[in-house]
Amino acid sequence: MNHYAITMPQLSDTMTEGVVVTWEKQPGDKVERGDIVATVETDKAIMDVEVFKAGYLAGPLADVGATIAVGAALGYITDTAGDVAIAAGEVVAEKAQTEMIPHHAGTPIVMPQLSDTMTEGVVVTWEKQPGDPIRRGDIVATVETDKAIMDVEVFQEGFLSGPIADVGSVVEVGHPMGFIVDDASKANDTGVTIGADHKVRESHHVAPHAADKPAYIPSPKSTPTQVAASGNVPPVARVPGRPASPYARKVAAQLGVNLSGLAGTGSSGVIVAADVARARPSMAEVAHSLPQVDVPGQGRAMTSMEKAVSHAMTASLTLPTFTVTMNISTAALTAAAKANKVSVTVAIAKACSVAMAKFPRMNWAYQPVDKLVERANHDFGIAVTSNDGGLVVPILHGIEKKSLAALQSDWSGLVERARVRKLAPAEYANPTFTISNMGMLGVSHFTAIPTPGIAAILAIAANGPQGTPFTLTCDHRVLNGADVALYLGALKQTIEAPDWIGEGSGVMSSAATPVTVSLAERGEGAAAESVAAHAALVSPIPTGNWDTPVVVIGGGPGGEDCARDLVDHGVKVMMVNNEPFPGGECLWRGCIPSKAWRAAADVIRNRSHDAEIGVDGTAAPKLNWAQVEKHRRWVQTSRGEMALKADKGMKIDVREGFGEFVDAHTLKITPVEGEAYTVTFGAAVIATGAPAFVPPIPGARENLANGGVVTSDTIWNLASPPKKMAIIGGGVIGVEMAQIFRDFGTEILMLERNARILGEIEDEIAKTLIGLLEKEISVVTDAAIDGISGKPGSMSVAYKNAAGEAHTFGCDIVLMATGKRPDTSKLGLDKAGVELDGAAIKVNTRGQTSVPHIYAVGDVIGGYMLAHTAATQGRVAADNLLGHASEYDQDKDCGVTFSRPQAGFVGLSVAQAKAKGIDAVEAKMPMSIDAKAMITGETDGMIKLVADKATGRIIGVHYLADHTDTLIGIGVMMVAGEMTLNQVAKAIFPHPTQTELFGELARRLLNRLRRTAKK
Ligand SMILES: Cc1cc2nc3c(=O)[nH]c(=O)nc-3n(C[C@H](O)[C@H](O)[C@H](O)COP(=O)(O)OP(=O)(O)OC[C@H]3O[C@@H](n4cnc5c(N)ncnc54)[C@H](O)[C@@H]3O)c2cc1C
Repeated sequence: MNHYAITMPQLSDTMTEGVVVTWEKQPGDKVERGDIVATVETDKAIMDVEVFKAGYLAGPLADVGATIAVGAALGYITDTAGDVAIAAGEVVAEKAQTEMIPHHAGTPIVMPQLSDTMTEGVVVTWEKQPGDPIRRGDIVATVETDKAIMDVEVFQEGFLSGPIADVGSVVEVGHPMGFIVDDASKANDTGVTIGADHKVRESHHVAPHAADKPAYIPSPKSTPTQVAASGNVPPVARVPGRPASPYARKVAAQLGVNLSGLAGTGSSGVIVAADVARARPSMAEVAHSLPQVDVPGQGRAMTSMEKAVSHAMTASLTLPTFTVTMNISTAALTAAAKANKVSVTVAIAKACSVAMAKFPRMNWAYQPVDKLVERANHDFGIAVTSNDGGLVVPILHGIEKKSLAALQSDWSGLVERARVRKLAPAEYANPTFTISNMGMLGVSHFTAIPTPGIAAILAIAANGPQGTPFTLTCDHRVLNGADVALYLGALKQTIEAPDWIGEGSGVMSSAATPVTVSLAERGEGAAAESVAAHAALVSPIPTGNWDTPVVVIGGGPGGEDCARDLVDHGVKVMMVNNEPFPGGECLWRGCIPSKAWRAAADVIRNRSHDAEIGVDGTAAPKLNWAQVEKHRRWVQTSRGEMALKADKGMKIDVREGFGEFVDAHTLKITPVEGEAYTVTFGAAVIATGAPAFVPPIPGARENLANGGVVTSDTIWNLASPPKKMAIIGGGVIGVEMAQIFRDFGTEILMLERNARILGEIEDEIAKTLIGLLEKEISVVTDAAIDGISGKPGSMSVAYKNAAGEAHTFGCDIVLMATGKRPDTSKLGLDKAGVELDGAAIKVNTRGQTSVPHIYAVGDVIGGYMLAHTAATQGRVAADNLLGHASEYDQDKDCGVTFSRPQAGFVGLSVAQAKAKGIDAVEAKMPMSIDAKAMITGETDGMIKLVADKATGRIIGVHYLADHTDTLIGIGVMMVAGEMTLNQVAKAIFPHPTQTELFGELARRLLNRLRRTAKK
């Protein structure tokens, strides 16, 4: 015997309860699928409760007039005839599937079954709106099925009527998604969110239902607004237990007031029109109806402007608000505004409008009852302090269509009149959005209060180390958190990259009228401008009679990029490097030579696909080692010479020699030839890198000198590729070298002391790559190396495997790929007071060490030891030395492992994001279904897209694919540019290219999020 609860469905996010209006069946009555068993009144309309479970209606039934919470039982269905009530205390664990449709709704438009396998569909668009006339054969909507997006065609004349299933709703086949009525006046414009998941997860304990009491609303003391019911809106239905006059029911229908929540003040408690009108008071009535606390003293009457502000602020209590903050750097916009002679306030207002083009909802407003005013006119209120210290909010009109110059001209007059409170009503009434800037007052953060009539107000605080906090307080009836977060993201981009100014976009007119900002905005935007300008001008390079204002120690990617950025900005720089040419490890012992080898290895490896594609005769390529080495050295020396020439041409004072600190402002330089000498400096940047680290394994360090053991620093002198090589360490360098030499014909044994190689790579990517790698080389994990011995050409590595079994591997050479570690022992850091964190130099996100005028960047500070990371950190240090607050953000960094296929990452993995408290989701695409990969036979691997569920922002991309070194650029732009899934989903990628995968992934993830959000 089974019982099923008929529960109060939730029709919308705002619905918390409903009132039972009628029971259409009685206990014991037979119920068929699709029968209407009851009608209930919700916050939207009177609805029929349609049941999709055959059986017999059983009590206890909720009383007519009772208010039932969403999810609570209205009654039950049992499959046993004759059962009229479920026993008290019985547990009912199943829910009868129900549907809510409006009472007398018309003919339902049901979700069509568009394929054999289709059980539900997602509403993608509505092609008609409620009230629109419908003709036979019209397409009213599109729905997404399990196969494709299809049109929903109807074959009945009439008018579309709600409730229509919201876009994104999941509707089961055969269930209504909208209605057709025969008369336009009967059309209802409600929308509902329908989820496919009708199952009950919680159990219902059956208890006799006590009818809930209607909520008590205290009667306001003031005179209610007189509302005249007009038009031919039919009165709302009578509510049992809430007697109401017919006129009150008509007013209720017009104002959308639910009678069940009202207390009547007419004779015998009858609800009269005045009671209904009180439910929709004006701002002044709301303000006056609140309990007032008396205060001592002789009050003066408020001016009408003060009263308006006071009423509006109190009325704002009716808005359910939330706040969202984002830090935005205003430096670029400030500079652009200045260069174009407009005030920062006007530029910010215009930026808000530009960003709003994609988020029009920010400019809408809630209107009672349950209406949204969708406005396209950007009339922004901008808070200004009047001369007498009061708050005035003049409105800058038509921001969306006027040039900055025209806006500046409007604003100058407005702000003058606002300061003396001489605004005409049109200049302060009905803003569509409001901006309040208190940056000039030094506040680090504040929130502003939106008033009825706008959906959002922006509060701008003072510029801080992280940028300027922009906080939006928003009406949750109009906006949700994700809308606002995405808008703020767009605003950040608009403000930080203000290339829309003066790009011929019409935004900035070339005839911009010069204005005197300080006169127009005394103490307001001008002060904010001076904060940003001040921040941009003060350089932390200590002034003094130094030999050089800045010394950079190390000429690798970190040092060289830093030095170049500084001289580019007119700062004199000395770069001390203990090698004849710049480029550091990257050029001489790292990225470049290893990729030159990889290029030759790629040619050999790629030939294996030739026959598959249809080209024979290329299967036996022959390695010409002498030419490989010649080519590699040519690339290195050419690039080294080019770099030195460029550095000297840019007037970097390049010194060859070893640098060490004598004190916090003196460096001793020891050249290769000649005497050591000292130089004094204002500020220093340490970029000395990190050499290969060799652990104290018996025989490892001892055999470095004879070349039997090599590291990434010393492998570059091989006479020929070894026949057999042991690689100790399964990190990125070890794996890259293993595959290069395997392609050159070397037999490889990789020994890793941890349980997994490639520990630094995203889990699934690493595991897949390991699977492929193990088909090519031998990998022993959990290996314990006992010792290394022999001489070059005849080395021996003794090790134990995970089971403790002892083995010996004979080989030509042993490569120690056991990581890199900064070595600062000879830098004299203690003399300068620079502190370490383990082996690395301790820095903050700006690259500043424990000594404020000494910075450190690149491998020497640990973290990602990558060339572009070092270069980025070098530019960050330069930026800070120039006086701009700038930070390295590891969450936007990236890297490629030049394995085959190549592994790559940008930003965060799901696990990393979750550890940071971000609700992250991912979608992945195997390369095996990519057309281009199939054509070239490069089908191993996958690409994964990671997004922040709350904002839709793409926060990570992970690759295992051939050509990752090119494809990663797209991931970098998406993550660095804080692009959203929506933006990428809409981008047009060319076919057939592997870039199409990104659009596909974004669309897939979006669809998934949409489905799960609606469940
Ligand atoms: C085999 C291998 C492959 C690699 N492949 C890649 C890759 O594909 N992509 C990638 O991004 N990264 C790669 N890297 C890492 C990359 O080489 C480093 O991360 C990068 O070079 C670090 O730059 P840096 O400026 O911090 O230091 P370095 O490049 O090490 O430069 C430091 C410079 O400072 C000099 N120096 C040191 N001490 C002093 C002193 N006291 N006085 C004066 N000068 C001094 C050094 O001689 C050197 O010229 C690879 C590394 C290796 C070993």
